[in-house]
Amino acid sequence: MLWRGRRQSDNIEDDRSDSGGGLGGGMGGGGQFRLPVGGRTGGGGSIILVILVVLAGWYFGFDPSQILGGGDGGLLPGGGGQITDNSGSQDNGGAPANDEMKQFVATVLAETEDTWTGIFKAQGLTYEDPKLVLFSGQIRSACGFASAAAGPFYCPGDRKVYLDMTFFQQLDQQFGASGEFARAYVVAHEVGHHVQNLTGIMSKFNQMRQGMSEADANQLSVRIELQADCFAGVWAHYTAQKGILEQGDIESALNAAKQIGDDTLQKKMQGYVVPESFNHGTSQQRQTWLARGYKSGKLSDCNTMSGPI
Ligand SMILES: [Zn+2]
Repeated sequence: MLWRGRRQSDNIEDDRSDSGGGLGGGMGGGGQFRLPVGGRTGGGGSIILVILVVLAGWYFGFDPSQILGGGDGGLLPGGGGQITDNSGSQDNGGAPANDEMKQFVATVLAETEDTWTGIFKAQGLTYEDPKLVLFSGQIRSACGFASAAAGPFYCPGDRKVYLDMTFFQQLDQQFGASGEFARAYVVAHEVGHHVQNLTGIMSKFNQMRQGMSEADANQLSVRIELQADCFAGVWAHYTAQKGILEQGDIESALNAAKQIGDDTLQKKMQGYVVPESFNHGTSQQRQTWLARGYKSGKLSDCNTMSGPI
């Protein structure tokens, strides 16, 4: 991606020196990462009614009950440390070595701001930029404590994307997803959840998950995650139109989507797959929806909520 020299977002909060790695084991991996979604989701409210209306029919098939724990399950399947230590424990205190990576993230974030502002505007809506918090090791968000081991995530309660950039190394070395644009996809996926939040899709999702069986909630989660992948694809579509993608960029994003598919990860981490536990989608699904958004650039092609996925 030809990102150097382009605008960098002001919406980066660098908490790397604060978050530190110190707090120790207690809070990683598991349920804590199930982000309690507080009150204020919503926002842009209405919009993308198209999608919502379609959603509605599907929604009613389910019964509500528990969960407040909605939000984004992160980019990766959450849960008990399948995603092991990614060296998030190192406290790099501001990490000058990462400065270039920070600039890259800030640039990608700016590109998402421009793209989504345009898409919202075209529908008569106003896009509100999310913040992106860089942290190291663990972080407290409006969604509770989270460990870097759980991967990047979006918290609807404070409208922030949380990213420990050591994840990028993990993506490269542990998951076999290298390339700048694999990283851009990670950011764009989380921003996709922000779009879901602004459009009310995410609060619907959290409502619906209440009282569902775990298996049903997982299935619903897969649909939400695949939509975030599709939205990342939509972003990539417009980014390509700017002429700043390089050869191999899309392929590296698609490869990332493949490498972090539930089935691929489970096979790698535990040697077998448990389809009922899938909550982000298989490799094939993730690639398919990312590619779909990329191909057309249309939100209407990102309706993962009804029909087969
Ligand atoms: Zn996600």
